[in-house]
Amino acid sequence: MTEWIKSRIRTIPDYPIDGIMFRDITTLLQDPKGFRRAVDEIVYTYAGQTIDKVVGIDARGFILGGAVAHQLSVGFVPVRKAGKLPHKTYAETYELEYGTDELHIHEDAVAPGETVLLIDDLIATGGTAMAAVKLIRQCGGDILGCSFVVDLPDLGGAQKLRDEGLPVHTLCAYEGH
Ligand code: AMP
Repeated sequence: MTEWIKSRIRTIPDYPIDGIMFRDITTLLQDPKGFRRAVDEIVYTYAGQTIDKVVGIDARGFILGGAVAHQLSVGFVPVRKAGKLPHKTYAETYELEYGTDELHIHEDAVAPGETVLLIDDLIATGGTAMAAVKLIRQCGGDILGCSFVVDLPDLGGAQKLRDEGLPVHTLCAYEGH
């Protein structure tokens, strides 16, 4: 399965900056079986668990997270970049390779005690996902798991989430960054 998924992910060297191997999942998403299978694999992982909300991270996490939420018949919550959500938000600043960025969630998007799945396309250093984890916890949500299509284990993000006691599920992995 891992190889099947990887064969549908395109790698673009030196994008967006020199030295980065960009793992482009648009080729997986545009393949009808690829999109179906990626979503199904995530959904099957949580079979039998009671999920209240799926949270997806701006922007590729919206595509996968929206499809997973639809399949589970639960609500979808976007975690967005600064300035995009119109109502009252919680905000988290996180470190990028160069500088910082900020993610937001609507304060009323997840109710206290609700169970949540967190979804994004890829986990690298884990800075983005950890910011989303903090936002969900600020709302009072209980994170049952975090799913990513791609893991870059050498960058340690998935381990960071596991060290927080969060179950992490990934569909494939690449060495390096
Ligand atoms: P990080 O916060 O370091 O875990 O980075 C994860 C976020 O950055 C995800 O939202 C990814 O979409 C994006 N990202 C980081 N590295 C890559 C990469 N090599 N290829 C594609 N997307 C990446």
